[in-house]
Amino acid sequence: HLKGKTALVTGSTSGIGLGIAKALAAEGASLIINGFGDAGAIEAERAGLEALSGAKAAYDDADLTKPEAIADMFARADTEMGGVDILVNNAGTQFVSPVEEFPVEKWDLILALNLSSAFHTMRLAIPGMRKKGWGRIIGTASAHSLVASPFKSAYVAAKHGLAGLTKAVALEVADAGITVNCVSPGYVWTPLVENQIPDTMKARGMTREQVINDVLLAGQPTKQFVTVEQVAAFVLFLTRDEAANVTGANLSVDGGWTAQ
Ligand code: NAD
Repeated sequence: HLKGKTALVTGSTSGIGLGIAKALAAEGASLIINGFGDAGAIEAERAGLEALSGAKAAYDDADLTKPEAIADMFARADTEMGGVDILVNNAGTQFVSPVEEFPVEKWDLILALNLSSAFHTMRLAIPGMRKKGWGRIIGTASAHSLVASPFKSAYVAAKHGLAGLTKAVALEVADAGITVNCVSPGYVWTPLVENQIPDTMKARGMTREQVINDVLLAGQPTKQFVTVEQVAAFVLFLTRDEAANVTGANLSVDGGWTAQ
């Protein structure tokens, strides 16, 4: 159902973002993928998306902590892809530390990447969506947009901020055919989760197994990691015409975590 539409998915060289890009491509969308990583691996993913969609897939290496790089990416989207119809704000990073030891540069990085980048992409995407009278903006928030865990002050603050930004902008564009929502996964097995295990081991004095069972899956009543494919399928639904009245929502895919 997405033939002729262009989707920009930030942070889509890995994990959830890549899964979302694949789900959108499978419905025929043109794609702009973004993020860091090995050039050969990224090119292989880009070519794979083109094969999947039968439409164009471009890669942009914009560092989303830099507003001017985001503006350049949108200028390119306008000239090469005819603008952005579906914007998925997915790029994000994590850092685990007690607040009194939290490195100031890590706070600034997490706020810039997990929150401010979505402000910049939204302000740049909305004029084109208004002209077309159609748009979909979806953020990958987190269960941490609704509840907190210790030692994740910057992440929890940024994700709560993203959920608030989603609501405010949804109201501003509600009569323009544009919906704005966020999806809030619990723990999804991706490099982001895997990479925080050593720091959590250190912060809590635990073994790897203890972190997986007693921290990560402790609050997830299904006792299962959410899969990338499950998050992507939910995002895909939000792009459909049937979802035209789902807006300003923060939708949980968290194995029951935030029901407690
Ligand atoms: P990931 O580390 O696998 O992917 C992160 C992506 O962001 C990568 O493509 C990376 O290259 C890109 N990225 C990092 N810094 C960037 C920058 N400065 N500019 C542009 N791109 C950058 O992580 P993931 O688990 O797939 O996480 C994706 C999103 O989902 C994040 O916003 C994360 O907070 C959120 N999330 C993840 C989980 C989880 O359990 N994995 C749970 C809830 C929410």
